[in-house]
Amino acid sequence: MKDAYNRDIRYLRLSVTDRCNYRCRYCMDEHAPISPRDPASAEELAEIAQACYRLGIDKIRLTGGEPLMRGDIVELCRMIRAISPDIELAMTTNGSMLPIYADKLKAAGLSRLNISLDTLDRERFRSLTRVGELDDVMSGIDAADNAGFSGTKINAVLIGGVNDDEVPAVAALAQTRDVSVRFIELMPMHVVSGWDDSCYISAERVMPLLGELTPVGFDGVTQLYSKDGWRGTVGFITPMSHRFCHRCDRVRVTADCKLKPCLHSNEEIDLKGIKGDKLLETIRTGILQKPLSHHLEDRRTDTSRYMNEIGG
Ligand code: SAM
Ligand code: SF4
Repeated sequence: MKDAYNRDIRYLRLSVTDRCNYRCRYCMDEHAPISPRDPASAEELAEIAQACYRLGIDKIRLTGGEPLMRGDIVELCRMIRAISPDIELAMTTNGSMLPIYADKLKAAGLSRLNISLDTLDRERFRSLTRVGELDDVMSGIDAADNAGFSGTKINAVLIGGVNDDEVPAVAALAQTRDVSVRFIELMPMHVVSGWDDSCYISAERVMPLLGELTPVGFDGVTQLYSKDGWRGTVGFITPMSHRFCHRCDRVRVTADCKLKPCLHSNEEIDLKGIKGDKLLETIRTGILQKPLSHHLEDRRTDTSRYMNEIGG
């Protein structure tokens, strides 16, 4: 459906849990409160997905927290896939558990994977995630490939002084693999809002490190480039340096079932316990309240949430 500014809203990012096996420094406070259990059942989440589909949303991304922390994640994929074969059903994951889940997710009807990977250096990886092992994620990328997932995206958050020197190495994953490596500008969510200015670097600053790139259009809010002789593509998501709100086609649902028309707004509409036509109408009203734009140019987000509750 169209929002109040004539944007066609077709994409739902559904945060299925706020729990995570990692504690990435830019996403969660080490001691961030986490729900002891997943706040929403698979049935509630599938009903939200169905209502959104009825409103014209045909792309659904499961995110979190770490979606693979849910014990019923495969069943949830099956339930959403059962709504329609036409839904593009994707997942954003830290990849560490894909060696266990990739085949099952594929069989349950998941269409695509985004895997987060900010560094190829084992020590840096451990420091950024506080607890993670780089090798687990690399095995996860291979597992996705072996399970038959194509069009996999690798997401790297750009953090000045932390991983900007690795941009060419991380991008080069697209040289030999059929993946799209996307660099995302760091956003000032919660703990990150107090980080030093030098941590925020624009895509434009790192692009020259990649030599000659050929623009090949947009995928949603991502500007994509190809490079001579490379199998995959490289992309940049630039919420800080370029406002792309005019092409934003998404809404979010947080891990505790709040509809969030904009990532950076504090406005949330509670969907918990709402069912049937009332649910559809509540989501429709929420979409019509989607604001025109955010205020990130002042390095200010209005949301008070941690990213692991919203899903990125
Ligand atoms: N656990 C999964 C993962 O890490 O891919 C899914 C949830 S995570 C919140 C979704 C995405 O948000 C990841 O790609 C992560 O890097 C990104 N993210 C988290 N905090 C961010 C921040 N402050 N700025 C930019 N991206 C962020
Ligand atoms: Fe977990 Fe993903 Fe957040 Fe890292 S970015 S703490 S893996 S939810």
